[in-house]
Amino acid sequence: MRSRERCLRCGGPVADGVAICHRCNPASLPSPSRTQYHATVFIVVLVTLVLAAGVLIARG
Ligand SMILES: [Zn+2]
Repeated sequence: MRSRERCLRCGGPVADGVAICHRCNPASLPSPSRTQYHATVFIVVLVTLVLAAGVLIARG
């Protein structure tokens, strides 16, 4: 059965549970899993929205 995992950078096939393929990550740096990657992006967006709302509220 073929893996449906895709590299987050180039879209090429990667092993299960790996977010970045070896070509995009030649140093084999620790890369977050896809779930962690998406969670991180979500949190950054959420924090940005909260900070923006806080600025608007502080300004009255
Ligand atoms: Zn890649």
